Amino acid sequence: MFKSVNPANGQEIAAYPELSGAEVEDKLHKAAEAYRHWRESPVSERAALLKKIAAQYEANKDRLARMATMEMGKTYASAVGEVDKCIAAFHHYAEHGPAMLVPLRHALSTGGSAELHWLPQGAVLAVMPWNFPYWQVVRFIAPTILAGNVGLLKHASNVQGVAGLLEEMVVAAGAPVGLFQNLSVKSKAVADIIADDRIVAVTLTGSEGAGMAVAGQAGRQLKKVVLELGGSDPFIVMPSADLDTAVRMAVKARIQNTGQSCICGKRMIVHADIYEAFLAKFSTAMKAVKAGDPMDPASDMGPLSSFEQRDTVLQQLVEARQQGAKLLFGGEALPGPGAYMSAGILTEVPLDSPLMHEEIFGPIAMLFRAANIDEAIRIANNIPFGLGSSVWTNDAQEQQRFIRDIQAGMTAINQMLASSPEAPFGGIKRSGHGRELGTHGLHEFMNLKTVLRV
Ligand code: NDP
Repeated sequence: MFKSVNPANGQEIAAYPELSGAEVEDKLHKAAEAYRHWRESPVSERAALLKKIAAQYEANKDRLARMATMEMGKTYASAVGEVDKCIAAFHHYAEHGPAMLVPLRHALSTGGSAELHWLPQGAVLAVMPWNFPYWQVVRFIAPTILAGNVGLLKHASNVQGVAGLLEEMVVAAGAPVGLFQNLSVKSKAVADIIADDRIVAVTLTGSEGAGMAVAGQAGRQLKKVVLELGGSDPFIVMPSADLDTAVRMAVKARIQNTGQSCICGKRMIVHADIYEAFLAKFSTAMKAVKAGDPMDPASDMGPLSSFEQRDTVLQQLVEARQQGAKLLFGGEALPGPGAYMSAGILTEVPLDSPLMHEEIFGPIAMLFRAANIDEAIRIANNIPFGLGSSVWTNDAQEQQRFIRDIQAGMTAINQMLASSPEAPFGGIKRSGHGRELGTHGLHEFMNLKTVLRV
């Protein structure tokens, strides 16, 4: 059984049975059958279905948001925001997706032409995490359906209630049987599912460890994989930036989702000229962050997603101090039955410490002083990850340097990095490969067929 535990009070909410081998086989069969028909469906029919799914999300917004808050502790307000973002993604692909599938034509120097057709390929498996339990999956479902592919979901063990609702919304919208199915299985069942001939590709969002395991399994089967793994994003503030705005957004970036976001700024790298001023304002704001009941609109953040996740962060802080870092304040487990902890700031983290190779998935910021832009970029790149980055400067040349030299899949200028349905999302280095969202995300699991004509 999978057990869902509310991290706000430690109480078990529900238990969900794990699928048997025969039930998995039945779902794989249904997926293959659904694909046989769906691949031939007109794109207009696929787009219409996305609109109907969006309507289901709209009609069930409160129910969906509550389930996420109960299962992984995000604030109810942010859970509603997440559902709204899902609705926007369904509409985006419904409205703009068909144009992304129009064949392109190139004249050939040897005569005739090459037409490029985007065709579906089959059933794609998504292995997904709990931190944005709807959004991470919807950014897979919406392009999958529009592409003419079909989807299977192995969701994180602690959000099986959300996983069930994700399937329910698609079914309630009138999707063909088997178009999108939730597989309630443990991670040890994933290798056999990937090896099954009816699965053509895999996408995973999660930790490096899970990414390496699943990419290895997919590689042995010569199946394509998209990986969106961890990050330890730099948030760089230069003297020309609007300091108050930068501080406000640094706090928001670091505590959103109780610090459990792959792209939230985790390492604040501040130019020496403004370091002390930034530190003073940032410290005041981080101390004011209120961890509390996620259903209460007055709470800035809820508990960590689980007691295990809080233990992981607390242990990282113990080790950080052993490695020479200084915990200025915060980073403490709060009393009571929930998995709450206070926001905090680490300084003096040695650049060669093991912590620089880890993602802190909790509301703890690392703060660095950089003498100049070269040093800021050096610190920014001094990690194995390369997911996102946020840079704060009004100097056009500095902006160009950051775009060129920060090793990351995404750079946000004078704003907090956030995903949106239109913009490709993904990383480099050990943050993974491939892209989700935008046109590139739609095309990842499609067959780009070249058609030659005289
Ligand atoms: P995991 O990476 O372990 O979990 C993500 C998903 O992968 C879950 O569905 C999980 O299933 C599955 N999974 C894990 N291992 C395997 C495997 N060997 N084969 C197949 N599937 C697997 O994340 P955790 O929840 O354990 O969090 C650990 C750390 O990962 C966090 O502290 C954070 O640093 C990072 N993380 C990053 C995320 C991101 O957005 N990039 C999201 C979540 C975590 P199951 O739940 O059943 O184990």
